[in-house]
Amino acid sequence: MAEPTPDLRSAGQTRPGCPVSRVRDRLRQAGLRPTRQRICLGWLLFSKGDRHITAEMLFEEAQRARVPVTLATVYNTLKQFTIAGLLRQIAAEGRRTYFDTDLTDHDHFLMEGEEELVDIPGAPVGLAGLPPAPAGYEIERVDVIIRLRRADPESTTAAGVWSLRSER
Ligand SMILES: [Zn+2]
Repeated sequence: MAEPTPDLRSAGQTRPGCPVSRVRDRLRQAGLRPTRQRICLGWLLFSKGDRHITAEMLFEEAQRARVPVTLATVYNTLKQFTIAGLLRQIAAEGRRTYFDTDLTDHDHFLMEGEEELVDIPGAPVGLAGLPPAPAGYEIERVDVIIRLRRADPESTTAAGVWSLRSER
């Protein structure tokens, strides 16, 4: 077999904080066999700090880094990483499923139209008055996704818009 390192030059700069060997260790610790594909995708995923990524986004990055994978493989790998506890899956809508490399308890803003998921800073939002789980189930966790749209620029109720104006 050829040496199992991804083409790091075309994937961008090597980050000293996340060498390929660390990705390999991380996969092994999670109980996943460190195949070449998993190492390549894991390096793309984990070498850039905390991030939200869809299968399509990671597939594009893999293509740019000349990692020979199909979209189906990328999707399956993301699922395997999630089951192994390396990623957190954030349900959005339809095909647009985000995977979060930040495993801490936190919630998200979803920018409508821009397809961007952003962490809500601070403690989890939490929900008052959660219903009891149906018989035979328990609540595993609550994901809060607050959907945002661009505020009407004429609206003075949008604090963000108002403060931008007042700076002029
Ligand atoms: Zn997040």
